[in-house]
Amino acid sequence: MDITTKSGQRIRQVIGGRSNVYLLTAGTRALLIDTGRTSRFGRLVSRLDRLKIDRIDAILLTHTHFDHAENTAALSERYGAKIVVQEQEAGALKTGDSRLPRGSILVTRWLMPRISPWLQPRVAYRPASPYLLVRETMGLRALGFEATVLHAPGHSPGSVSLIVDDQIALVGDTLLGTLPRSVFPPFADDPVEMVRSWGRLLRTGCTLFLPGHGWPITRDRLERQYAKHRRAIPLTEP
Ligand SMILES: [Zn+2]
Repeated sequence: MDITTKSGQRIRQVIGGRSNVYLLTAGTRALLIDTGRTSRFGRLVSRLDRLKIDRIDAILLTHTHFDHAENTAALSERYGAKIVVQEQEAGALKTGDSRLPRGSILVTRWLMPRISPWLQPRVAYRPASPYLLVRETMGLRALGFEATVLHAPGHSPGSVSLIVDDQIALVGDTLLGTLPRSVFPPFADDPVEMVRSWGRLLRTGCTLFLPGHGWPITRDRLERQYAKHRRAIPLTEP
């Protein structure tokens, strides 16, 4: 994937598969969105080499779950990148012990309480220190990007999306891109809040939504899914 936005910024998928890592570039400035699993570190670095990236200005974590954050410390050191994260996820990043999410559908609601005690200590990762903390929204112009970080809680309390040129949104696990019929993630601490965050995303001008897992989601598709899930759960618009 290689998208050039209205203002000439570029969004490329650096690695895919289990967890997506994206790169936003604006001239010589580079921002990495999520960092993936340690098992993919070598591949990630070789892809960045191929893209001729030897310095990264900042790393934005859509949230601090292990499959998005394991390489944060190593990449931050290697490329001199400052880490940006929502304030409610900062503690988890500093300890490398982000809580596993709750299940949001029948099977995962059953599964998570049973496996979390066993799994939780196995998903600890190398801690890292955040540089910038996002609260509700944060423009990244000071870092050289026409992009805004938007708090989009629900999958985790401090999940964020990156809105690039009011055109493309990088949404982490707020939306799932692996299934043909649904974008509803099977894990979320607060599914109602997550669907509210979908509404927040739809109030931007974005036409394409890039998830942390799977393939891009069109605005049409998100609108249909939002209408369906809004009916299914009680929502009061803030
Ligand atoms: Zn997650």
